[in-house]
Amino acid sequence: MRFSLVLLVAFAAAAAANEEILPSLRGMQAIRIMADTEEKLNLVKSYEGVPGFDFIKLTANLQEPVNVLVTAEQATFFKSVLERNEIDYNVYVNNVLEKVEEEKIAMELARNLPPLEKFAGRSFTFTSFPRYNVIVSYLQDIVKSYSNVATLLDIGTSYEGRTIYAIKISSGSNNPAILIDAGIHAREWAAPVTSLYVINELVENPDLYANVDWYIIPTLNPDGYEYTFTTYRLWRKTRSVTAGSTCLGVDGNRNFELQWMLTGASSSPCSDTYAGKAPFSEVETQALRNFVLANKDSIKLYLTYHSYGNYILYPWGYTSDLPDDEPELRSLAEAADDAIASLYGTRYTIGSSTNVLYAAAGGSDDWVKGIGGVELSYTIELPGGGWFGFDLPASRIIPVGAETFESIKVFGKYIAQKFGSTRN
Ligand SMILES: [Zn+2]
Repeated sequence: MRFSLVLLVAFAAAAAANEEILPSLRGMQAIRIMADTEEKLNLVKSYEGVPGFDFIKLTANLQEPVNVLVTAEQATFFKSVLERNEIDYNVYVNNVLEKVEEEKIAMELARNLPPLEKFAGRSFTFTSFPRYNVIVSYLQDIVKSYSNVATLLDIGTSYEGRTIYAIKISSGSNNPAILIDAGIHAREWAAPVTSLYVINELVENPDLYANVDWYIIPTLNPDGYEYTFTTYRLWRKTRSVTAGSTCLGVDGNRNFELQWMLTGASSSPCSDTYAGKAPFSEVETQALRNFVLANKDSIKLYLTYHSYGNYILYPWGYTSDLPDDEPELRSLAEAADDAIASLYGTRYTIGSSTNVLYAAAGGSDDWVKGIGGVELSYTIELPGGGWFGFDLPASRIIPVGAETFESIKVFGKYIAQKFGSTRN
């Protein structure tokens, strides 16, 4: 009796404080599963959305593993289910918390490494993952050093009040434009830093901005991104408050208004794929929407950087049907993949989101193509390579940036040729 009273009081206190409860990283395991039949894969997938399960890599390809993070409380039970159903698996991280702490230490060490000569004197030198304020100073540095081609645009304000910046790199003429964003998913640290690398290289390559304008948004979800540094490394969503729930945030990449909530999205505020109470409920997704609509006539290609898994994906995410211009989307993606591979041999898998990964409605790439009118629209899943997938080692920032920039050259030349003025 007394026990339940104590519990009741504890619950009331938690509710009063609107306390957010997150799955504990202590003892959380990363499990790689080889589900080699449709039936086994469906059984594994049936745990999606169950509290304590976080599917960090899910694919429609039976030859590829599924990676899932499972809390200590659920791990023993889940592994017995796999065993009973003769599904192969291996535990590749025994305690995610330990790896997160190791990552922190590695970053501290990396931060103090001497920079490559080309980055010397910059406020950010690509030795470690930058916090939001470092990203902002870096953009300000670039705009100061390349004031003839680079301008900083304020495209909106995050839920917690951080400015969402876009940098424009342009020779000044009215050119077709390419839009790149990064970091809509907070924990995917490879994305913002790679977009900064792209900026760093673009300003040094006049041929690439002579006939194409570039807009780059390095951190579309700054609140979530900061939260991954300060509080919870595996945070994915925005940080908005949902009335009536102690769970915060919305999955920005389920919040766009095209077949919203049709598939692969959750209506539960505690889910990592919570689509929001309505399409465009989030100020961050509104910022991207408004920017695209305001520049609808000039933007000809859209790239959204995520991680991880080495995928170049194109619409649709809400259906397995392919867009009419799929051959063009595919051949341009293949050219980009060849360019990436030319540097260190890294290969990407190419296809429509639904067909190579999984169906998920409300993604930015679908909306940008379907409503925004930008026919060439891609989600790029950058490489992983750490312990639990999102922890790309800091030593890989520059190689990943460099190989990704090879694809940027391909995209830039393609848009210049296809949409450029006849003067070329
Ligand atoms: Zn993502």
